[in-house]
Amino acid sequence: MISIALIGSTGSIGRQVCNVVRRYPDRFCFSALVARGNRELFFEQVSEFRPRRAVLTQKGAFSGMSPAIQGVAFSEGEEKALECIEESDVVFVAASGFAGLKYSLKAIACGKRLALANKETLVSGGDLVMRQVREKGIDLVPVDSEHSALWQALHFDRRGKFEQLILTASGGPFYGKSKAELAKVTVKDTLRHPTWQMGAKITVDSATLLNKGFEVIEAKWLYDAPFEKIRTVVQPTSIVHSMVAFADGSVLAQMSYPTMEVPIQLALTYPERLPSGLQIPDFASLGEIRFLPLERKAFPCYDLALTAGAAGGGYPCALNAAGEVAVNAFLREKIGFTRIAEVIEEVLSRTERARADDYESLCEIDRRAREEAEKIIGNAV
Ligand code: NDP
Ligand code: MG
Repeated sequence: MISIALIGSTGSIGRQVCNVVRRYPDRFCFSALVARGNRELFFEQVSEFRPRRAVLTQKGAFSGMSPAIQGVAFSEGEEKALECIEESDVVFVAASGFAGLKYSLKAIACGKRLALANKETLVSGGDLVMRQVREKGIDLVPVDSEHSALWQALHFDRRGKFEQLILTASGGPFYGKSKAELAKVTVKDTLRHPTWQMGAKITVDSATLLNKGFEVIEAKWLYDAPFEKIRTVVQPTSIVHSMVAFADGSVLAQMSYPTMEVPIQLALTYPERLPSGLQIPDFASLGEIRFLPLERKAFPCYDLALTAGAAGGGYPCALNAAGEVAVNAFLREKIGFTRIAEVIEEVLSRTERARADDYESLCEIDRRAREEAEKIIGNAV
């Protein structure tokens, strides 16, 4: 029986991890469930899975109640969540945002297998994280669908040789729109993703292409790939999840209907592949699988991410922090869609080169970038 500490159990990824554990109860159990503050769903999950530990990280999350389920120790706060990591076989980091980094670092420090959905871990702290992964020799398993596809095409060998990593992008809901049209899109339009059901932050990032820029940075760290060997191509139906090209000109693609349950399950069962309930694509009825170029002009977030990634140091961390603040403001309808990129660009221009090789420095860069972003947004209102 493999015990999993699931961080972010109530989110889109977390709920799908629960589906996998529900499918294979004789292989997997939860040693801990951790979420922030969605009490109702959290209690449903805890009653069903009976983890040894159940933690809500938000201060006061249990106020006005004293939760009691036999065999479950309830607690509150991030410190308690971090403690849970020590008592598991696998740590599944499915929390959103920069907050995920601390859990990933703790999992690595404890020598656990780390199933990593939280892409901010590598965007903000890739250098530090990969150094620690190497030092500890832990098994870092990608969950993001593109990176899982690359890993599968590389036969589960993150150090495998390749000529190019080709990331696919759906293009998001606004592919083909002009800058002027984009200035008018609403939050509702943005949250209507054509192929994936995800949390709000990543759905907005998919529409701005910041998400694809993040994924280039993620690929660089996971596969030790220079940026010039990473390409992005649009594949509107999200059937091809990414591809690896080799020296002889061959390309291996990983395909399936779009659902995160495949990469999530594989992260837990690999090298074994088990039924996931998903049908094999019916290629004859799919007809064609189209590839289109990425449109970079109308979606400046992609290039902003690549520039920050190439600059290295604290810039990708500032990029992420600015993105979190800007997207949050967009979701609250304080700024428009095209302003997201402007805020990020302005924060990056105000960011100075600084030490970014330990967790405390990254927290400081994150804090400052958030402060700048808030100021810029405040000034803009
Ligand atoms: P959601 O917003 O749906 O869920 C986020 C989860 O994290 C919730 O359970 C939330 O708890 C929890 N959480 C937030 N802050 C903290 C914290 N400080 N400590 C512990 N838990 C916390 O996000 P998604 O599931 O969409 O995404 C999760 C991560 O996976 C992101 O990094 C995203 O980029 C990545 N990812 C997601 C994909 C997807 O298909 N959704 C695909 C590829 C990557 P609560 O609900 O209680 O607030
Ligand atoms: Mg992805």
